[in-house]
This record gives sequence, C-alpha cells and structure tokens, in this order.
Amino acid sequence: MEYKKNDVIKVTIEDMGTAGEGIGKINGFPLFVKDAVIGDTVEAKITKVKKNYAYARLEKVLAPSPFRVEPVCACHRQCGGCQLQSMDYEKQLLFKQDKVKNHLVRLGGFAEEEVKRVLEPVVGMESPYRYRNKAQYPIGKDREGNPAAGFYAGRTHSIIANTDCFLGREENREILETILTYMKEFHVPPYEEENGTGLVRHVLIRTAFATGQIMVCLVLNGHKKPDGYLPHQEELLKRLSQIDNMTSVSVSINTEKTNVIMGKEVRTIWGKDTIRDCIRVRDMEKEDMPFTGEKLEFAISPLSFYQVNPLQTEKLYSLALQYAGLTGKETVWDLYCGIGTISLFLATRAGQVYGVEVLPQAIEDARANAERNHIENAAFFTGKAEEVLPEFYEKHRHEKESDSMARPDVIVVDPPRKGCDEKCLKVMLEMAPERIVYVSCDSATLARDLRILCDGGYELRRVRPVDQFGHTVHVETVVLLSYNSRRFLKEKRTKRFEKIIM
Ligand code: SAH
Repeated sequence: MEYKKNDVIKVTIEDMGTAGEGIGKINGFPLFVKDAVIGDTVEAKITKVKKNYAYARLEKVLAPSPFRVEPVCACHRQCGGCQLQSMDYEKQLLFKQDKVKNHLVRLGGFAEEEVKRVLEPVVGMESPYRYRNKAQYPIGKDREGNPAAGFYAGRTHSIIANTDCFLGREENREILETILTYMKEFHVPPYEEENGTGLVRHVLIRTAFATGQIMVCLVLNGHKKPDGYLPHQEELLKRLSQIDNMTSVSVSINTEKTNVIMGKEVRTIWGKDTIRDCIRVRDMEKEDMPFTGEKLEFAISPLSFYQVNPLQTEKLYSLALQYAGLTGKETVWDLYCGIGTISLFLATRAGQVYGVEVLPQAIEDARANAERNHIENAAFFTGKAEEVLPEFYEKHRHEKESDSMARPDVIVVDPPRKGCDEKCLKVMLEMAPERIVYVSCDSATLARDLRILCDGGYELRRVRPVDQFGHTVHVETVVLLSYNSRRFLKEKRTKRFEKIIM
C-alpha cells in the first residue's frame, strides 16, 4: 500500500468490526478506525500498517453519520470501556443482532436463510445508562499526586479521575468522594502500582436494585493493625454509614502484585455480610414482557458472581426459562450454574434440577439461595461440567426410569466466554435431551458449539440476543435447540455424531 504510519487520510466508514471499530476502505484496502461510526466520513491518522489492512486513529469527524450521537461521558474515548457510546442506541442493538447472525453464518456454517428464520429481535434496554449494579474503581494518584478514583490512562500508572461512570449508579460518586476525602484528611496513602506501596487499591460498590441496599468493599494492600484495617477507621465508617441505604462495609486484603482485583477473603467491618436482591420472572412470549408475579431472592457478598445488569438479567433468565418449555415434571441439568440463579428459575417449573459449577464458594451460595427460596428440587454439584456430567452419565446410563439423571428432558448451559468443552458437548449428545438451551456471552464460541450440537442431531429453533451491556460490544444470546423425533433420528444422529467426535 502506498500509505504509511502517520499519514492522515480521509475515509468513509462503511462497516463495523466485532470490536466496535469503524471500517473504511482506501483503494480497496481496509482501514480500522477506532471510535468512528458507520456512516461517518472522517479524517484518520494511520497508526499501524499490516500486509492486508491498517489501523488508524480518529482525528476529526468531517461529516457525521446519521447514527452518530453526542456521547454523555467526556472520558469515553480515553477510558475505552464503552466502545459504542458515539452510536445511537437503536443502531447499537442492530449491530449486536448482526454480530450474532454473522457469527452463526460465518463461524457456525449455518445457512443465512435458516439463521434469519430463527433469529428473533434483540431484547434491548429501556434505558441504556446507569444499568450496572457493580462498580470497581481503582484508587491511585492523579498527576498532582492526590488520591483519585477513576481509570488508568492507557498503559500508564496514573489515574484519570472520574467518579461518575454513566453505566453505574449516581450514588457511587458520593461514596467515592467520601472515601477520597477521608483519605486526604487522614493521609491514607493510595496504592501505587509501579512499586507496590500504599494502602487502598480498589473500591468495589454493589447495589441491589430491588431493595436499594448498598455494599462497599475496600481492597487493601496491608494487614490489620491493632486499631483496625485502616487508620481512623471509625471516622470512615461513620461517614459511609450515613449514606442512604448503606448496608454493608467490608475490606478485602490483597497484597499481591497482580491484576486480580479482590483478595481471597473478605471481612465485614460495618453492617451486614451480604445484601439482598430479587430477580423477577417475566413472560417473554408477550411483546411488553410483563412480570408474572413470581420472584426469587438472592444474597450477594463481595466475592459472589452476580449478573451486573439486573433488569436485563430478568429478561435473559426468563427467556431461558421459556425456551426450556417446562411443565413441572422435567429433569433438567443446568451446567455452569454459578450461584444457581438460572437453576432456581428452572426449579420453579421443573421436576428436578441439577446444577454444576466449578467454584465451591458459588455452589455454597447456590445451596443457600435454594434454601432461602424454599426450593427443594434443586441439587448442586461442584466440579467441571466436562467431568461431572460424564461421571453421572456413566453411572446412570443403564437406568430405564424417565426421571433418570442420565436422561434429562432439558440441558441448559451458560458457559464463560470460551464456550463449552468438547467433552461436555459430547456427553450432552449422548444424553440426548429433548431440548438444549444455550445461554452465551460470546457469539463466536456459541456458533462453534452450536455447529457440533447440530451435527449431532439437534436443530436450531430459536435464537434471541439480549443486550446486557449497552454501549459496549458485548452481547448475550439465548438459543433453543431441539431434538424432537428422538427415536426416529437416533440412528442418523449416531452416525453424524461419530463423524464429528471420533
Ligand atoms: N449461570 C450463572 C453463571 C454464568 S457465568 C449466572 O447466570 O449467574 C459462568 C460460570 O461458569 C461461572 O460461575 C464459572 O465459575 C463457571 N465455570 C467456568 N468453567 C467451568 C467448567 N468447566 N465447569 C463448570 N463451571 C464452570
């Protein structure tokens, strides 16, 4: 290509990449421009030239796209957390819908017609700001050396102060300012990444939307002293406890030089150990998704995994529940069950639910949550899905009973981004449930796994993206697969399956 680094060029953005970058072409050569929106004509400076494409930085918008909007957050380009904030929310939703479709077609090898037939419209948010119930702010020094909360500037060690991320709650600002003022007054040193000194590393804030209860956890680089974990601890607690709805204040010790935020243990220093939240069931078959009146209660501690967008989570789980098609008798496995949120949803309509999760603490939470909601038909197992499931299958495969663990009616999976282990998919195919519900946070690995399941005899029935993370490029997807004529297809399935797995 005749262009080189630092050249400034004019380009029209015609497409968007999966990471949210704008894609334009100069003489047929693709140029990836971060922060540019599809439809923009921009001036961009080339930052890196590769053999078949180049990267560029947005310098100036010459003619804005009809989809371009004024971002609400002044820091959004520096922070990088919201890759799509300059794009109209409706267009963001279409981008996500397209991303799922393209992955199914290009990576999953499904025919475009088939995907179009089963793909339902993305479930968007009513309001795409202030949706997060969890905020984790790094604490450090700003350029003047004052304690600050915000985000790290690029690859540096200094913090760009921003105590009001628009994805989080408004109250976070008051909480952070209270902590920073206390630190300044009492000379409590912020953590310094480059040399591992200082005390306060991170502040974690969690809010239960249903009850309003707030939890604050300070991550500290130092152990307990005779007068407490923090100097003048009483003064900090007095101020924090005056904030409306403050329910729990804790500390977590993390003295390691690591990117992991939380330490292994948490000590409550004021109030309760957990906050209480509710997740309500919605009827997703109706267009306005009304609440059904059923709800489940969960206790959340600083270390527990809990979905970060509670309002969309209700829709996501309700969709999984609806796709599972339960009538009260079914045996269901819920793999990658975390603290049992989806399992307990399923248990309200199933005969028996078995949850599997690798983290022992999460399984403890799952059992406590089952008890809290008086659910007796959910059992939980600690271990990797790809190990626990084959083990039970081997043990129970010769049983004839219809409620056998080896012959579930439905299997639900909600794996992390890397998707399901192939061994896990293989046993799922052998167990041959009527329906599989796949909840995914990465449509690329989803497409890969769906190909294996469909080659093993399943059919794509319904696919619906759910926007859990407005302004970012992430998208959650719920998929229903079914294997209706089990006996009729059995032979065919086994043959196809052998081809794939062996
Ligand atoms: N369904 C839950 C959690 C989904 S997140 C919810 O919605 O809240 C994915 C979960 O899978 C995490 O809790 C993670 O700890 C767990 N996990 C990761 N790898 C696993 C594996 N190989 N087997 C079982 N669980 C696993």
